[in-house]
Amino acid sequence: MTYVMNTKQQLVSIMADYRLGLFVFRNDLRVEDNLALYDAAQRSEILICCFCFNPTQNKYGHYGIPAMGKHRFTFLQQSLKQLRTELEMRGQKLIVLTGTFDWILTELISERQVDAVFLSQHQGYYERLQLSLLQQRFPFLPFHETPNNTLFSEPELPFELADLPETFSQFRKKVEPLSRDFSVQLVDALPPLPENISYPGFKAETLNELASADFEGGERAGLEHLASYFSGQSAGTYKQTRNALDDFSSSTKFSPWLAQGCLSVRQIMAALREYEAQFGENESSYWISFELLWREYFFWYALKHGKRLFAFSGLSGKSPKTSFYSERFQKWCSGNTPYPIVNACMKQLNATGYMSNRGRQLVASCFVHELSLDWRYGAAYFEQQLIDYDVSSNWGNWQYLAGVGADPRGHRQFNLEKQTERYDPDNEFIKRWAGDLSGQPIDSVDAADWPVR
Ligand SMILES: Cc1cc2nc3c(=O)[nH]c(=O)nc-3n(C[C@H](O)[C@H](O)[C@H](O)COP(=O)(O)OP(=O)(O)OC[C@H]3O[C@@H](n4cnc5c(N)ncnc54)[C@H](O)[C@@H]3O)c2cc1C
Repeated sequence: MTYVMNTKQQLVSIMADYRLGLFVFRNDLRVEDNLALYDAAQRSEILICCFCFNPTQNKYGHYGIPAMGKHRFTFLQQSLKQLRTELEMRGQKLIVLTGTFDWILTELISERQVDAVFLSQHQGYYERLQLSLLQQRFPFLPFHETPNNTLFSEPELPFELADLPETFSQFRKKVEPLSRDFSVQLVDALPPLPENISYPGFKAETLNELASADFEGGERAGLEHLASYFSGQSAGTYKQTRNALDDFSSSTKFSPWLAQGCLSVRQIMAALREYEAQFGENESSYWISFELLWREYFFWYALKHGKRLFAFSGLSGKSPKTSFYSERFQKWCSGNTPYPIVNACMKQLNATGYMSNRGRQLVASCFVHELSLDWRYGAAYFEQQLIDYDVSSNWGNWQYLAGVGADPRGHRQFNLEKQTERYDPDNEFIKRWAGDLSGQPIDSVDAADWPVR
C-alpha cells in the first residue's frame, strides 16, 4: 500500500510502486515540506528511513582541517534527535548508520533487498560522486532524486544549467519574474517500517552542553524560529539592519536550519508572503527574498561547476598570487591578527559557530588581501566552524571574495579601518569579543632574519 493526500488533505492508501523503499536523509532533516520523503511515502508499501553519518568528518577534511567542528556537530545531533521524534509521531523510525555513505548503503540495500532509493537532490560534488558510486553498484535499482532544497527545480529555470549566468545579477533578473506557488507539503503519516529492523540511535544527549544558546538544531526549533521572526517587526527593517555585526534580530538567522534542511526555503518564502500580505511589502521584505536568491544561485553554480568549486583558480582559470603561511593562518583562525575587527569576528565564530555576513566578508578579504593566504584554507576553516556550513554558499562566496568566482569586478578588498568606523564606530563589538588584545605583528620572523648564505 502507499499513501496519497486526497482533496480533504487526508492520507489515503493506494497500490504502491515498490514493496520496500529506502529514504536517505542528507541535508533535508525535516518531515514537513520534504518533497522527496513525500514521494517515497507515496510510492512505497514499506519504508526504511535512514541517515548516514561518517565519523571521519570530525577528524579529516580539506588540507588536514577536520571538516566538522563541535558547533555543527551538536546542531546536527539535535536535528537528528528531533527528526527521530517527528518520524516516530508518524509511525516511522530513524535509522542512523555510521560509516562511508556508499558502503553502508550498499550493505543495507543488499541485506534488505530494497526496491527503490529516494533522496533529495544534493548540489555537492562529493555527495554526487558518492551517489553515483552507489548507482554503479546497483545499475538496475531505481534511484529517485527530488529537487527539495531550492526555490526552483532545474526544469523550471529559464535556461539550461550549462548556460547558468556568470553573475548573480544576470541570474536574478532571469528568475525573479518567474511566478511560483510556495505552498507547503504536509506529511501526516508514513508507510510502516519493515519488521525486525534494529535502529541504532544517535547519542544526541551527550553533546547538548556545547550547543550555541542562539541555535537549537531540528525541525521544531526551526519552525518556531521562523514563526517568531515573522511575528515581530524585524523583517520590515531587515535591509537597514542586516549588516550589523552582532545583533540576533538584525538578520533572519535562518541559515543554520536551511543548511541542514530542518527548514525548506519554500517554507520561508511562504511565511514571507504571508507576512507581506499582513503587513505590506517593503524594500526590506523584498531584500530577504533577494538574499535567498544568492543561496539559490550558488546551489546551481555548485551543480554546474562540480569540483571547480574547490579549485584554487576557481572559474577564472588564473591562480591567485597567494600562498599558505602556517603562522598567519593560525593567527587568523584564533583571532590574533593586527586587525581588531577581524579578531573579534573570528573569536565570535569560534565561540558560537556563527558570524554575520558583513563579518564573513571582512575576514575573508583580510585573509586574501592583507595576509596573502590561499583562500581554500579559509574556506576549509569556515567549513569546520560554521554552524550553517553549506557547501555551495561557503565555497561560492569564498571564490567570489578571492576574485576567482562569479564576480564581474574580480577584486574585493575591504578597507578594514573604514569598515570598523562604519559598522563598529564605538568599538563595542571589538570590545565584546576582545578583538583588540593582540597587538602582535602578523609574522614573528621577518624576511631580514632569514639566514643568508
Ligand atoms: C566567505 C563567506 C562564506 C559564507 N558561507 C556560508 C555558508 O557556509 N552557509 C550559508 O548559509 N551562508 C554562507 N554565507 C552567506 C551569508 O553570510 C550567510 O548566509 C548569512 O550570514 C547567514 O545569516 P542569516 O541567515 O541571518 O542571513 P540573512 O541576511 O538573514 O539572509 C537570509 C538568507 O539568505 C541566504 N543568504 C544571505 N546572504 C547570502 C550569500 N552571500 N550567499 C548565499 N546565501 C546567502 C542565506 O540562506 C540566509 O539565511 C557566506 C558568506 C561569505 C562572505
